[in-house]
Amino acid sequence: MTNASHRGDGPVLVVGGGIVGLATAYYLLRAGVPVEVVERSSVASGASLGNAGWVCATHSAPVASPGVAGYALRSLGRPDSPLYLRPSAGLLPWLLRFWRSSGRSRFERGYAAVVELNRETFALFDELAESSVDTGLSRPGMVHAFLSVAQARHYLNVQRLMARGRYEVPDDVEVGDAARELDPSLKSPVAAAYFVPGEGIVHPERFARSLRDQVEAVGGKVHEDVEVSGFQRSAGRIAGLYTSRGDIACGAVVIAAGMWSGQVLRWMDRHLPLQTGKGYSFSIDLDPPPAHSIYFGDHNLVASPMAGTTRIAGTMELSGNNNRLDWRRIVALAKASRHYLGDWFSHADELPGLIRDPWVGGRPLLPDTLPVIDQVPGYANAFVNTGHGMLGVTLGPASGRALTEFVVTGRRPGLLEPFRFDRLRTR
Ligand SMILES: Cc1cc2nc3c(=O)[nH]c(=O)nc-3n(C[C@H](O)[C@H](O)[C@H](O)COP(=O)(O)OP(=O)(O)OC[C@H]3O[C@@H](n4cnc5c(N)ncnc54)[C@H](O)[C@@H]3O)c2cc1C
Repeated sequence: MTNASHRGDGPVLVVGGGIVGLATAYYLLRAGVPVEVVERSSVASGASLGNAGWVCATHSAPVASPGVAGYALRSLGRPDSPLYLRPSAGLLPWLLRFWRSSGRSRFERGYAAVVELNRETFALFDELAESSVDTGLSRPGMVHAFLSVAQARHYLNVQRLMARGRYEVPDDVEVGDAARELDPSLKSPVAAAYFVPGEGIVHPERFARSLRDQVEAVGGKVHEDVEVSGFQRSAGRIAGLYTSRGDIACGAVVIAAGMWSGQVLRWMDRHLPLQTGKGYSFSIDLDPPPAHSIYFGDHNLVASPMAGTTRIAGTMELSGNNNRLDWRRIVALAKASRHYLGDWFSHADELPGLIRDPWVGGRPLLPDTLPVIDQVPGYANAFVNTGHGMLGVTLGPASGRALTEFVVTGRRPGLLEPFRFDRLRTR
């Protein structure tokens, strides 16, 4: 019999088999806690599938940042813009809260919190690899490529301020041929670029599947094709889950359902102001392929060498809580990539024959674009781990490990203070 009120008898049930849920399950098992993951489809079928796979220190600033509101307004009504907004239920109040979160001091606090959470990331990936998880992590470093020298220098200056000695940034950008020599795939008119060593890439689907295998190897269960549809509640506790395959009793529950976490929490009568930030990707064969992860700074899109092909990813589309693929965004991404990678196609009609795995995924976004990693208010044995936005692959292991400490001890680690649920209460 377990006495701790935050964890009763029975397994901890993790709702959601994405990278965040699986990493949480893995660390709980390592701490000796029995765990079952309940995933309505197959593992890594949500945002954890087709993302860019970056594990990075550089791009860890909250999206809610000074100047972002102006950028959003300039993007309105432009279907080819990297940021696309379509009015939907709940979007306006969310945008107001997003805008309030993007002031300098809140941004600085949020950034500092993510930096702290991210501090051990590469060490955690190394530990996972040593414990037989096939992370597939390589660390070729990241090239930042730009079409204008001024824009490249501006970005580098901002990055130097953000790095604060945590990672190496060069003194200046490379220009012209020297810039294009930083990565073999770069073509004219790329005008300037710089390199940040040490940044990493994983194949996210392979990483998630290996986490699943290790969860099972160390005694956990992963139920795939089992959909959670509600909770058995009693006196401020969750006694079990209602699922498409019957009820499952539990000692505690962790909600890690990505963009669907808001819907799942409604079954506990809790409101999480979550919007879906849809992003797109596809794979192409380039000759030569990139040797690094590449950030194409003027167009906010990225490329990752992955499993022998090149994955192009980008776009932030706020158009409701859905996973509908809009082919126009794929075309816009492909066209933008030609500025940096050369004319790998001449006309959009050729794209269906050239690209593989066109994909859309939903980033779970809270208004301050920080995750929520906490106990669910009002429930002694319910926890949530979601809202990782653009950083779920990078932060999955660190979030899972930190939440495990909370679940095991019943005390919120200081690291998780900035990711409290109650910061999101509607004022
Ligand atoms: C284009 C794009 C590029 C990205 N690139 C990067 C990157 O380079 N690096 C990085 O760190 N992050 C990146 N991200 C973000 C990253 O993909 C996400 O933050 C991360 O995958 C979120 O993982 P998750 O486990 O929280 O959610 P998900 O992977 O979405 O998993 C949630 C799971 O919950 C399941 N589920 C939902 N409801 C239920 C239910 N009722 N019952 C049972 N199961 C349920 C779903 O089926 C799903 O499998 C990118 C995102 C996009 C869209």
